[in-house]
Amino acid sequence: MSGNDCFIVLNKIFRPKKKHKLDQVKGYTMKYGNIVENDEIVDEVLVSYFKAPKSYTTENMCEINSHGGNVIVKKILELCLKNGAELAEPGEFTKRAFLNGRIDLLQAESVIDVINAKSEREAKTGMKQLEGILSKQILEIKQKILDVMVNVEVAIDYPEYDVEEVTNKQIIDMLIQVEDELKRLEKSFDNGKLIKEGIKTAIIGKPNAGKSSLLNAILKEDRAIVTEYEGTTRDTIEEFVNINGIPLKLIDTAGIRQAKDEVEKIGIAKAKEIAQEADLIISIFDSTKELTSEDIEILELSKKKKSIIILNKMDLEPMLQENDARLQKASKHIVKISALNATGIEKVYDEITELFQLNEINLDNEIIITNIRHKNLINKAIQNIKKTKGTIEQKMPLDIIAIFMKDILEDLGNITGEVVSDDIINEIFSKFCLGK
Ligand code: GDP
Repeated sequence: MSGNDCFIVLNKIFRPKKKHKLDQVKGYTMKYGNIVENDEIVDEVLVSYFKAPKSYTTENMCEINSHGGNVIVKKILELCLKNGAELAEPGEFTKRAFLNGRIDLLQAESVIDVINAKSEREAKTGMKQLEGILSKQILEIKQKILDVMVNVEVAIDYPEYDVEEVTNKQIIDMLIQVEDELKRLEKSFDNGKLIKEGIKTAIIGKPNAGKSSLLNAILKEDRAIVTEYEGTTRDTIEEFVNINGIPLKLIDTAGIRQAKDEVEKIGIAKAKEIAQEADLIISIFDSTKELTSEDIEILELSKKKKSIIILNKMDLEPMLQENDARLQKASKHIVKISALNATGIEKVYDEITELFQLNEINLDNEIIITNIRHKNLINKAIQNIKKTKGTIEQKMPLDIIAIFMKDILEDLGNITGEVVSDDIINEIFSKFCLGK
């Protein structure tokens, strides 16, 4: 429970073993006792106390640790509600931490990222943002604009001082610098997106080329081929594998499995469809056979994206070689494997690492944007910088230039949540789970 009256509610239902006065209880301590209803014990519990402002939300808070189980927990919750508490909305604790000013919006958003992280890298980027490194950078950029803004305001308010010339140059220099920094942040989203959403990967190839064998080798367990998801729609099935801490999101693995029974249905059309969605296309060919017209079509698809060509069944007598001009033209990344024996799979990972320059992502020294909302706002700020530069080039009066500069500040303020609207706040916190 959080809220300045939460101890009042607690006192109605909690009987500590050792009697104590509430104002003698220190924050960050635990008390042992029972939750009671009409003098009857509901459960034996430990209660942690957090006293304002030293708590997650900055309000008084307490946490009841019960034995657990559905019935007891529900009962305790019911008792809290009966005695004056209200149910929290999804993300309400974090929302309060934000509204009470303990963290900014960007940090609040990174709480979800940390919770939902699918890989260590994602968790690490989330933690860094929670610590506030991105917020700090945004604030520094804002400060640079504000420093110049002061001069602009002076020039507007005291035109007799004729500081306009100096200020114009100052503004331009500052804008160039700020634009540069924002562009670097914007660019980091390429990696941020990979870290957060994974590399959407399509495995395509003719029937019997070895798609499901490769999938098995990647997932390293036979479970992949079992149709345990039978009956579910294909689109909802996502399988993740981690490569160097980056998740590969395998598209349509169900389709590959279903192909076993419905070979005729899984043709080039389907391959095209999934290739369109993909960041990475892994096309696989049976190296014991000559390329057919279907294979050529698959090679065509590979040309459009980052792609890896796999020559499979290398344990058998190969017909196809990696120096084949048709393959070379489609991708520089050609790997020979035997999906059946799971040999060469590491090489596939190496190629992915190289293609996406995964080794160059340095989480320790780089600030990486992972949130599309932040990216869009940064982009908007960059557009507004361009507009501001335009107004200066067109020799517009300073008060007009100032209006455009304020737009940049507003975009940045939206990221950290200083000037954000209630609708956006509500939308952000609705994505949280209950109790966070
Ligand atoms: P898909 O239709 O593309 O999913 O192909 P499968 O993975 O089902 O493989 C088709 C057939 O080729 C199966 O009988 C596999 O056992 C076999 N196969 C797959 N990869 C290899 C390989 O590397 N070597 C050999 N010898 N056979 C393989």
